[in-house]
Amino acid sequence: MTAPVTRAYPGPASPAAGDRLDLGNDPPVVLELDMVTKTYPGEPPVEALRGVSFTVHRGELVGIVGPSGSGKTTLLHLIGTLDRPTSGTVRVTGFDISQLSDRELSALRAGRVGFVFQQFFLAEHQSVLDNVADGLLYAGASFPERRRAAAHALARVGLSDKLAVLPTKLSGGQRQRVAIARALVGRPAMLLADEPTGNLDSSTGQSVLDLFAELNNDGATIIVITHDHGVAQRMGRVIELLDGLVLADSDARHPVDGSEDRGGGGGRDGDDREAPAWP
Ligand code: ADP
Ligand code: MG
Repeated sequence: MTAPVTRAYPGPASPAAGDRLDLGNDPPVVLELDMVTKTYPGEPPVEALRGVSFTVHRGELVGIVGPSGSGKTTLLHLIGTLDRPTSGTVRVTGFDISQLSDRELSALRAGRVGFVFQQFFLAEHQSVLDNVADGLLYAGASFPERRRAAAHALARVGLSDKLAVLPTKLSGGQRQRVAIARALVGRPAMLLADEPTGNLDSSTGQSVLDLFAELNNDGATIIVITHDHGVAQRMGRVIELLDGLVLADSDARHPVDGSEDRGGGGGRDGDDREAPAWP
């Protein structure tokens, strides 16, 4: 295999939910950062990221860990296509986000990235089922299709008995499960979680991390951003961030010095396999 080729953005995909979100159409490299920098203007300017490179393959479970000010939120915004780098390249499922218009970025984000936040961000006045079904609003699925997929995703996170309930009636752990179901209902290429256990007590937090492990086992690609080393250590791979640089990357196949075989020809196990079964 040769070095990854930047995909030309095809424009909004077919409105059929299954088509548009079909992971099978995505390359095995879900995320690629190449010497990414982000400088915030000011006096003096702040170099929040100073040359970050790493690659995430389909099916990985990655923890990105670093102390306050290390650049985690900045990195999250870039990976989640909410912002563009100052220099360097961010490719999400092969698309160079610097080359996309705002509309194209929104479409890429809606179709390929699922977000989970510390604060859950559920619509309190809507049922659990509708909260999750809203995760498909931009996928072009019909109302019954959205509800069917939502019920399926909620079953997957163990909340089949809560479909009609309002989020206010749920515990913190259950709320986060709803948020995870909402993030995954559109079959994103990656799930991006920002301090997902930050508002949970430790045993509830552990059960959410167990759920991530299960979902990953079923094929979901998950990236968890956290300041908590205990959380990061539950991930298959840990990338440590400090002062806007990658300090360490536990995956030996992705050395920090960037000298890996970027074409992936050396092959991770997952490179050539079929699209994962989830959900
Ligand atoms: P973390 O999430 O790890 O705490 P951030 O990405 O939030 O790190 O911040 C990294 C650095 O960039 C910090 O020095 C922070 O003060 C600075 N920074 C973050 N966002 C902005 C911004 N919008 N404008 C200016 N400086 C910022
Ligand atoms: Mg932060």
